[in-house]
Amino acid sequence: MKKLALSLILFSMLACSKAPITGRTQILIVPKYEVLQQSSLQYEEVKKESKIINNQDSVKVKKVGNNIAKAVDTFLRSDPAYAGMADDYNWEFNLIESEEVNAWCMPGGKVAVYTGILKYAKDEDRLAVIMGHEIAHAVADHGRERMSQELIKNYGTATLSTLFNQNPTLATNVFFQAYGISSELVTLKYSRDHEKEADKLGLIFMAMAGYNPNASIEFWESMAADKEAEPLEFFSTHPNSATRIQLLKEYIASPEFSKYLR
Ligand SMILES: [Zn+2]
Repeated sequence: MKKLALSLILFSMLACSKAPITGRTQILIVPKYEVLQQSSLQYEEVKKESKIINNQDSVKVKKVGNNIAKAVDTFLRSDPAYAGMADDYNWEFNLIESEEVNAWCMPGGKVAVYTGILKYAKDEDRLAVIMGHEIAHAVADHGRERMSQELIKNYGTATLSTLFNQNPTLATNVFFQAYGISSELVTLKYSRDHEKEADKLGLIFMAMAGYNPNASIEFWESMAADKEAEPLEFFSTHPNSATRIQLLKEYIASPEFSKYLR
């Protein structure tokens, strides 16, 4: 019985987490060090297998990425609620040669930008939209959350069944948060939530670094106007770009956002 109580406490501690700024509840049951270790290993693999570009564009990618990462670091360290997170990041920004219109970020701040997306990010403000969005995925721990969702989806009902039997409240909470109506639907919803959250946080982070948040509207409009831009990370799970642009406009105009403007 003691063992069960302990595992319940441990499970609750690991599971109950909130995304920074938005306060969205997250299930993070995969240990942080596992995620960071995997991320570093996989990122090194990608670097080995890709053509890393070293030119004026890559200098710009690194410059904008590091400016936003620095602003995020200052922000995290200034708030006792987030200060402990700041050391989890070891930011790295690389430009990879690929026609694919894409960019991504692995946990811990390992960012890749493909040359194919640069045609939509001619100036630094527009590039900051991409970098802010990717940095936001890392800061909101979306990778670890996805891994936790997969763990629960694949093994959850088997390994956690004892916990569910012993504690009806925990079972209900975990069930609703992780599964909803069906695991597929919830996973889909989470992915859309992640994209929306990354848009919002990305906007805040680029503004914190002194970039013009209105560039996000220009960036998404130029992407939306070009059918070649699809499919890519940004569009894969998002409802559509019109909704996204509308949400960004509303958020830029909101009193909450003005708090983060420099
Ligand atoms: Zn994204």
